[in-house]
Amino acid sequence: LTSEESRATATPMMEQFIEIKAANPGSLLFYRMGDFYELFFEDAVDASRALGITLTKRGQHLGQDIPMCGVPVHAADDYLQKLISLGFRVAVCEQIEDPAEAKKRGSKSVVKRDVVRLVTPGTITEDKLLSPFESNYLMALARIRGGSAPQLALAWIDISTGIFRLAETTETRLLADILRIEPRELIVPDTLFHDEELKPAFDVLGRVVVPQPAVLFDSASAEGRIARYFGVGTLDGFGAFSRAEIAAAAAAVAYVEKTQISERPPLGLPERQNAASTLFIDPATRANLELVKTLSGDRNGSLLKAIDRTVTGGGARLLAERLMSPLTDPVAIADRQDSIAHLLSDGLLVDRLRDAMKRVPDMPRALSRLALDRGGPRDLGAVVAGLAASAEVGGLLDPSNLPTELSEALADLAALPADLGSSLAAMLADELPLLKRDGGFLRDGAIPELDELRALRDQSRRVIAGLQLQYAEETGIKSLKIKHNNVLGYFIEVTAGNAGPMTEGDEAKSRFIHRQTMANAMRFTTTELADLESRIANAAGQALSLELAAFDQMVAKVVAAAEPIKAAARALAVIDVASGLAALAEEQGYCRPLVDDSRMFAITAGRHPVVEQALRRQAASPFIANDCDLSPNDTKGPGAIWLLTGPNMGGKSTFLRQNALIAILAQMGSFVPAGAAHIGIVDRLFSRVGASDDLARGRSTFMVEMVETAAILNQATDRSLVILDEIGRGTATFDGLSIAWAAVEHLHEANRCRSLFATHFHELTALSEKLARMSNVTMRVKEWDGDVIFLHEVGPGSADRSYGIQVARLAGLPAAVVARAREVLTRLEDSDRKNPAAQLIDDLPLFQVAVRRDEIQKSGPSKVEEVLRSLDLDDLTPRQALDALYDLKKQL
Ligand code: ADP
Repeated sequence: LTSEESRATATPMMEQFIEIKAANPGSLLFYRMGDFYELFFEDAVDASRALGITLTKRGQHLGQDIPMCGVPVHAADDYLQKLISLGFRVAVCEQIEDPAEAKKRGSKSVVKRDVVRLVTPGTITEDKLLSPFESNYLMALARIRGGSAPQLALAWIDISTGIFRLAETTETRLLADILRIEPRELIVPDTLFHDEELKPAFDVLGRVVVPQPAVLFDSASAEGRIARYFGVGTLDGFGAFSRAEIAAAAAAVAYVEKTQISERPPLGLPERQNAASTLFIDPATRANLELVKTLSGDRNGSLLKAIDRTVTGGGARLLAERLMSPLTDPVAIADRQDSIAHLLSDGLLVDRLRDAMKRVPDMPRALSRLALDRGGPRDLGAVVAGLAASAEVGGLLDPSNLPTELSEALADLAALPADLGSSLAAMLADELPLLKRDGGFLRDGAIPELDELRALRDQSRRVIAGLQLQYAEETGIKSLKIKHNNVLGYFIEVTAGNAGPMTEGDEAKSRFIHRQTMANAMRFTTTELADLESRIANAAGQALSLELAAFDQMVAKVVAAAEPIKAAARALAVIDVASGLAALAEEQGYCRPLVDDSRMFAITAGRHPVVEQALRRQAASPFIANDCDLSPNDTKGPGAIWLLTGPNMGGKSTFLRQNALIAILAQMGSFVPAGAAHIGIVDRLFSRVGASDDLARGRSTFMVEMVETAAILNQATDRSLVILDEIGRGTATFDGLSIAWAAVEHLHEANRCRSLFATHFHELTALSEKLARMSNVTMRVKEWDGDVIFLHEVGPGSADRSYGIQVARLAGLPAAVVARAREVLTRLEDSDRKNPAAQLIDDLPLFQVAVRRDEIQKSGPSKVEEVLRSLDLDDLTPRQALDALYDLKKQL
């Protein structure tokens, strides 16, 4: 398109299109033409297919038809939403001058147009395009080489709410950190896009990752760019950031500037998140535990859905954020628990607060749109309603006895400018139109001049009604009507047969000026009517410009108070989350867990938060509560392992997951589904549950299982919590048993973490003889008439049988197959096999953990090390080197 020939032969409009298109590669160009956005060439083909709209053509280019499709401007949001959700990016190109101006330059001259905004998944602000329950993050990744190890950092911004955060990360944590925040768009320097080390993470993220020119990430100019955005001279007042963090933050800011063109969303100052301050949950665990969505991608059935009792969008987003990033600081956790406990201590407070907050609109998002000049009267209305609700919520809290978190929230509510809400409310009408250009959003009495113009308008309508009567009498045509349309304005209409008195005679002809003849009607105007018409149009125009000026003033007032409004919105979200969790705790009978720095993990009568509610909804038999105790003997020592056996369907996975979920709930500051709980801070949570195939990436189930198990055994620390379900299941029995055996030993001896290990291999229970901190527990079942009844109770001991055949029968395997299977089983059990595990316990020495380097150093260097250190390798001949090697060997 950009070739010489193409430019030379294009019409002036096409020439303009081609130029703008070339400046915005990678985006569909929405080219404004009157009341439509039109798309041309490839864009038209792609968009018509994606949106299911008709593809037509307009004119020719280089001898070929130009494909074209269009969407009406008033419905553009819907089409944008669809395109964005399909992964397209859109450049919105508007007319930036009055078409009258272009005409003045000459009849062939094209109206000036330019792209005013790039719509990308990470930078949207429209309510229609956003989910009220989810943050919409744009994230940037930067890497700085130099020094010993490369520094990696992430920065993420939600321009719809102004949240701006930063964190350092590492290659191993990268994917987990990104998934914890779930950005809609991750921009990376194009120089890193194909980086060997980062590629695996990018592959998982798919099209969320968008390469951008490396200059955006340039660390030399980064600080200046951020300082300019915030209108400050230096970043010194912002806190200490690493170079990588600043580069990532500057890239995110640059991308906001690039997509928003001339508008600047109000961003909060960047806040730093310390990796150690959040519970690390690796990606597989996050997915398997179905924290915010199920494995099949549904919100229903997730932990978030089960615990969400918030009533505002801001509250729902904060709850999701807390669930995705639980804390590791017992004091901060206790602060959150204190809020819930306080709210629960006053019987009616929770209900009253939630009632008041139900009326809270999405203030931060309305504020962002107003600041970006994309807001309408309803956004102002949202701010007014939000300010009123803030006052109401603030009034419900008694400042004398509030715990820290609530007391800070109350202070933020109290800090709102006192008269902002009432001054806006005095101006805005009760019913607000969507678009400001329609006018009619100011209330009567707001501006005296506007009232006068509106009176004139209403009066003119009466005058017109009077004129209609007068003309009817004058002409004797009873059916004469005065009508209005957009082309003619006001006009007199009579049926063709009746038109005689208006067309005959000079007097009539000069009085009634003919405008239009229709099939069976004629239309006229008069000088009186034309005068009136222009008076009405003037009044309407003046009224609208008064309203628009008032709108701008109100927006300016709101934007000037952006900081306190955002702080108040955040405070409302905090109060919403606390009262939602309090309501949940009361409704579901949750308890306040004791969370401290110990290594305890003692859950009494724990339940699975999601399964419990599902059973209740189905009015099925109630959930059976179970204890779990992985505490060390002396609170600080290494954690215990529970080896859980039991038949399929016995409740093993449910039990494993419920304990992981209880840890997450406890560390996000919530109460937990248990009778009592004492949890020493967990630094990392790992799970290997379910068989999530990853066939798309060419890995078998067994390979995935081993990759995940490897991650756990390599990374779990003595503060971690590990949940392993059916390790070694995906391979031959002896292979699987051997791997599971070695994994349990490694957890016990090397990781020394708190672990739950569910297995089919009953042979593993023999290990409890050797591993001091391992106990065997089993899901209890009852046998009844050859059938098996699952009690869902965890008790000491091990299952002596798997009841596989009974479960198969329950599942409806043909009776003949079940009978035959019983026969085979009896034979197998009778045959004189020596129990292989007993043999292992007798013969095999316990797993040896490689002695750690620091322990070696404690006992001083060995002889071999001393000799090695003394050797000067650059000074040896090959012969001497060989001799030295022989000497070393002798030392062993
Ligand atoms: P397993 O992992 O041993 O095969 P699951 O954990 O999948 O068993 O549980 C099987 C079914 O038993 C689940 O669908 C669940 O509804 C039910 N269940 C599990 N634990 C309990 C419990 N503690 N109380 C009541 N029902 C339970």
